[in-house]
Amino acid sequence: MNKVGYIYDDVFLLHEPPAGHPDSPDRLQSINSSLKAVDLWGRLAHLKPRKALPEDLALAHTPEAIERIRSMGAGEVDPDTYASVESFNAASYAAGAVMEAVEQCRSNGMRRVFCAVRPPGHHAEADSAMGFCLFNNVAVGARHAQRIGYNKVFIIDFDAHHGNGTQHIFEEDDTVFYFSTHQHPYYPETGKDMERGRGKGEGFTYNVPILAGSGNKDYLAVYQDILPGVVQRFGPDIILVSAGYDIHANDPHANIRVTHEGIHGIVRSILTSAEVPIVFVLEGGYDLPSLCDSVKITIEEMLRP
Ligand SMILES: [Zn+2]
Repeated sequence: MNKVGYIYDDVFLLHEPPAGHPDSPDRLQSINSSLKAVDLWGRLAHLKPRKALPEDLALAHTPEAIERIRSMGAGEVDPDTYASVESFNAASYAAGAVMEAVEQCRSNGMRRVFCAVRPPGHHAEADSAMGFCLFNNVAVGARHAQRIGYNKVFIIDFDAHHGNGTQHIFEEDDTVFYFSTHQHPYYPETGKDMERGRGKGEGFTYNVPILAGSGNKDYLAVYQDILPGVVQRFGPDIILVSAGYDIHANDPHANIRVTHEGIHGIVRSILTSAEVPIVFVLEGGYDLPSLCDSVKITIEEMLRP
């Protein structure tokens, strides 16, 4: 059996930023349709997210940050980030999806899980929502993984934007490694190569800034030549991936030129970097055809024995 878990729920469609916002509910509906069209859908083990409770979200967030989103109703969080009436609920399930994924790995022998969630998470800081993200799904998932017995967690973030929130949440921690490639200089402007963690966590953050216009060759040099050694030296018990497909050449919200072939190589390198459970969590990706193709490629690779 080489079932890949796929976690999705219609609750993720209830997070509704204003019309025209890049993070539209169509993103997930399009992904699901495209997986059904090529019958990848039938090869997946379909799982449901749990709802992260406020005390679960508190694994990565301050009580004030959680309460602000819970109580705000609909409105603007920052100039890019909105909540609709059901956003707190959707975001709680998005974080809970990653919790469920790591539980499935821990208790049910699942080795690979894809979490098709929104809102995304990696920009959300401990004390504030930011950059389309309300709660940091991967960060909550990483802490939950440690709560259920995974000691060392390796996070790989290939979204075109730096995961400032994830880096900051774990930067003083030597049990959670944060590895990121991202367009730089670019939003959110963090993620310089000299940012390597602090205190006990020094050396447990690894940033690879990538210049606008870079493509497959630059990415594969990182993912094939650098990543495996970094993963092996750390020796993780589980890997979480912030899978942001805005690195695709057609994406309107970044200037990275990775093609289908590049996505394929990045995913393959991640999957072969260690013999541990690997959970992919959707972050960005706003050109719908490219997003759908990229997720299909990811899942085909995950299904490969
Ligand atoms: Zn992004």
